[in-house]
Amino acid sequence: KNELTIVMAGDGGVGKSCITIRYVKQIFHDHYDPTLEESYRTQVEIDNSVVTLDIIDTAGQEEFKVLRDTHLSQGDGYILVFSIIEKSGLDEIEKLRGQILRFHDIDPTEPNTNPPFPIMIAGNKSDLEEYREVPTETAKQMADQWGLPYIETSAKNGTNISELYAECVRMVRKY
Ligand code: GDP
Ligand code: MG
Repeated sequence: KNELTIVMAGDGGVGKSCITIRYVKQIFHDHYDPTLEESYRTQVEIDNSVVTLDIIDTAGQEEFKVLRDTHLSQGDGYILVFSIIEKSGLDEIEKLRGQILRFHDIDPTEPNTNPPFPIMIAGNKSDLEEYREVPTETAKQMADQWGLPYIETSAKNGTNISELYAECVRMVRKY
């Protein structure tokens, strides 16, 4: 397929919208409406092959749960985001992983498939090192245990943002 849907998910405030906008528009905005659920269409070249990405930026609010669950089932690939300055975001990632796999008829308690179902784990706000609550090793071990890649990003300074999406596309292509 040369048209892929990538779904962004994770707790509110972790930076899903900022990561998406940084990737699609190469800018960092300080403020997004946290209730807004948006999708962005962008054409990029990854490993010498052009692909159109539909990036769905979900919002976690309870009242939008039905909408979010619909979007959660629609991805070819997923980016699960937490913030390295708030360890509570890890619980949400774990829940979301289970939900996403079940939506795709994969039992999350079964041993990981090889290649893994395309989910990237992103620890965002890496520019705020002095406030870090989640050690890199902790997040890496969690991702390893699921057989998934872990990458630390900063929507603010752009670190690893294009790598995050490129790796996600590679996972989708391999799966
Ligand atoms: P969302 O609810 O997951 O979509 O989170 P937002 O993208 O709206 O970001 C929530 C807040 O975190 C905003 O105030 C952003 O300015 C801030 N933020 C997002 N990404 C980063 C980052 O990489 N570094 C820093 N320092 N702040 C960030
Ligand atoms: Mg948002």
